[in-house]
Amino acid sequence: MKKITVAGSGVLGSQIAYQTAFHGYDVTVYDINDAALEAAKERIQGLKPHYKADLQATDEQVNTAYERIQFNSHLKEAVADADLVIEAIPEVVKIKTEFYTNLGQVAPAHTIFATNSSTLLPSQFAEATGRPEQFLALHFANTIWKNNTAEVMKHPHTDANVFDEVIAFAKSIGMVALPLHKEQPGYILNSLLVPFLDAAEMLLVKEVSDPETIDKTWMIGTGAPLGPFAILDIVGINTAYNIVQAKAEATGDETLLKLANMLKTDYIDQGKLGRATGQGFYTY
Ligand code: NAD
Repeated sequence: MKKITVAGSGVLGSQIAYQTAFHGYDVTVYDINDAALEAAKERIQGLKPHYKADLQATDEQVNTAYERIQFNSHLKEAVADADLVIEAIPEVVKIKTEFYTNLGQVAPAHTIFATNSSTLLPSQFAEATGRPEQFLALHFANTIWKNNTAEVMKHPHTDANVFDEVIAFAKSIGMVALPLHKEQPGYILNSLLVPFLDAAEMLLVKEVSDPETIDKTWMIGTGAPLGPFAILDIVGINTAYNIVQAKAEATGDETLLKLANMLKTDYIDQGKLGRATGQGFYTY
C-alpha cells in the first residue's frame, strides 16, 4: 500500500490522515466541500505541536508530513489512485450507506475500504461497498499518535489477505494492531470497558460505596493506575449519561433510571462534566 485516502476530516479523520502522512504515505483527504477541507487544514496544522511535544518530532518532520497531504472534495478524483480508503464520516447509517454506494462505483477495483466506525458493524455496509471481501473495520482511538491502538475487525466475508494487509498497514503507521477475527459490537476495548464502568456506577447508585473507595479498591486490588470513576471523568459524564439513559429507556429498569437522574442532577446540571471542565467525580 502506498496511497491512502481518508474520507471525512473531522476529529478522527484529520488525526488518521496526519498520522499516516507522518509515517511516509501520500495521503488524500476527502470531505464534502471546500469549507470542510479548509477546516481540515486548520485541524491538521493544529496537530503539529502535539507531535512535537509528545513524540519529540522536529519542525522538519511535522512540516514534511503535512506536505504529503492533498485535499480534494471530488470523490472520484480523491480515490483515483488509492490503495486504501479509510472512512471516518459521521456515525449515521444513512450517510455511511450512501457514501459506500458512491465509493464502490468510483474507486479502482483493487482499492480496500476500511471503516473507523465506533458503534456500527462492517457487515451493515458490506453490500453497499460492492466489494465485501475488500472491506473491514480499522478502528482508532482519539489522540491516535499516543493512544495508538488499531482494532482491525473482519466481517464474515472479509478476505483473509485483506485482513493481513490492513494489519500490516496499521503497524506501518505506528499503531499497535489488534486483530478481531469476528464481528463484535464495541470491539475489544469497549466490550471490556462498558460493563466494567456499568458495574462501578451500579455500586454507587445502590449506595454500596462512594467513588473514591470503589476506585481505591480496584487500583490496590489489581495494580491498575486508574479506577472506574477516574476513567468516567476522562470519558466525560455526558457520554456516560447518554449510555445509561438509552439503556434506562429501553429497559424501564428503575435502578438505571435512578442512575441517569443522578448523573444529570448531581453532575451535568452542575457543570461537572469530567476532566474537560475540571470537575466530575473528582476535582482536577
Ligand atoms: P466528526 O463529526 O468530527 O467528523 C466527520 C467529518 O465527516 C466532517 O468533517 C464532515 O464534514 C465529514 N462528512 C460528513 N458527511 C460526509 C460524507 N458524506 N462524505 C465525506 N465526509 C463527510 O466525526 P468524528 O468524531 O471524527 O467521527 C467520525 C467516525 O470516526 C465515526 O464513525 C466515529 O464513530 C468514529 N470514531 C470517532 C472517535 C472520536 O473519539 N471522535 C473515535 C473512534 C472512532
